[in-house]
Amino acid sequence: MIVILKHDHNPSQLDSLITWLQDKGITIHTSIGEGNTVLGLVGDTSKIDIDLIAALDIVEDVKRVQEPYKNANRKFHPEDTVVQVGNTQIGGGNLTIMAGPCSVESEEQVVAIAKAVKASGATMLRGGAFKPRTSPYAFQGLGETGLEYLKAARAETGLPIVTELMDVTHLPLFKDVDVIQIGARNMQNFDLLKAVGHQDKPVMIKRGMSATYEEWLMSAEYVMAGGNENVILCERGIRTFESYTRNTLDLAAIPVLRKLTHLPIIVDPSHATGKYWLVEPLAMGAVATGADGLQIEVHNDPAHALCDGPQSLKPEAFDPLAKKLLALHATIRGMEGQA
Ligand code: PEP
Ligand code: MN
Repeated sequence: MIVILKHDHNPSQLDSLITWLQDKGITIHTSIGEGNTVLGLVGDTSKIDIDLIAALDIVEDVKRVQEPYKNANRKFHPEDTVVQVGNTQIGGGNLTIMAGPCSVESEEQVVAIAKAVKASGATMLRGGAFKPRTSPYAFQGLGETGLEYLKAARAETGLPIVTELMDVTHLPLFKDVDVIQIGARNMQNFDLLKAVGHQDKPVMIKRGMSATYEEWLMSAEYVMAGGNENVILCERGIRTFESYTRNTLDLAAIPVLRKLTHLPIIVDPSHATGKYWLVEPLAMGAVATGADGLQIEVHNDPAHALCDGPQSLKPEAFDPLAKKLLALHATIRGMEGQA
């Protein structure tokens, strides 16, 4: 249930309403926007008399919310969430470009790529230290050492780092990471979601390969229910009958999620297509469709990459793309009168 308060509501009447609701076992999330203050009521609201609340002096309107996700629901929180990461903000009209190798392979490799992508306009460095691989015989990532190399690249460039957490027991190793990535294969690893919900580092949840919007938002809800509201969603393609591309990028996810949730939305055209030459058109499409940012794989030597070479761009191909993406984003903002 959501309660929209009148603009000039009396604070002591509001306190009494909150106490009354809390006594009934309801948790309240207050969202103070420019226009309205909204109370999100989480818990068993079935016994709350909606007419009684609607009749209060301080209340403008009351609505029951059908969707099972509350904290992630835009109805509860009409303003866009902006996630602060180091000196950059994800959401809020910015275009975040996360770029870097699929896997961290060596310190020299990740530092060189970080320097190159930063010079091209990237605002975050991506790179996997713990890798979810289909084959147990494939390169599994450098683990803790990989995290150290990412930190070295951050120290050299100032770029915040985003990297995947696969196992709850590794969480202490991630205390210096800027954004924790939950991979597509772990989108419904509920223990992992609970664990990252109980800490305050931003969490980016990639869409499961066959996850519906609602399932994906329920994963965000798991993190937010634990108290961590710094959640970012990442569309990375879903499984369809088409086998030409690695996955099928669902660009409709961007406007749909924009309507359903206040959380920032990133698009990963690399895993979505599996082909380097499809990264540019789909990245441009994602910006045109309103994404808050992109996650793009960049490798200095894709032919010899230990993971995902065929979908990785060389730094010299990433450079003009990053510039085009920033220019397209600025043009769109200008057309919307917000530049
Ligand atoms: C990745 O970003 O390295 C990755 C494995 O992506 P996904 O979870 O989307 O497959
Ligand atoms: Mn990859």
